[in-house]
Amino acid sequence: MTGSLLAVDLVNLAGTRWTVDAAQKTLREHQIRRAALTVSSSGQLRDWAVRLRSAFEDVDIDTRCRAINGLLEAGTARAYLTTHDQLRPHLHFASDDDDVVARVKAVTAGGLAIFAVESDGGRLGVCARIGCGTAFLDTSRNGLRSYCSARCGNNDAVQRHRKAAPKAEV
Ligand SMILES: [Zn+2]
Ligand SMILES: [Zn+2]
Repeated sequence: MTGSLLAVDLVNLAGTRWTVDAAQKTLREHQIRRAALTVSSSGQLRDWAVRLRSAFEDVDIDTRCRAINGLLEAGTARAYLTTHDQLRPHLHFASDDDDVVARVKAVTAGGLAIFAVESDGGRLGVCARIGCGTAFLDTSRNGLRSYCSARCGNNDAVQRHRKAAPKAEV
């Protein structure tokens, strides 16, 4: 899950309050090693995060697979199994000595591809409340999540009700 969770956080950070510090903090929260960023590498990662959003858009499965294939093509060098730090075998998609931008591109593209395999191409989404746009991974049991949070779901229900109310009074 590491790569796909990091991808969501970067997409949402790029959509709101991206700074070098905030990006660095996000990388560290997701156990990215040697996560120090410069203004330039932070800018490259922000461009990448904007691109990652394509995996979350509300599209059919084939379009989503093409979007993720584009990310794999641009972001990964090779795939291999590793057991570093006594972890269970997992896939890496960039060399360990690549710079932080290359490693983050690889782990997010690869992570989203693995997630898409396990979710049959679904369970990636953008909040349905107009004006929100927050991306999410749907890990709910039924996989029918439409909002980023309960709050957005409630606000949307209230707005729909207000819109519908005048008609009811006619
Ligand atoms: Zn690893
Ligand atoms: Zn939302």
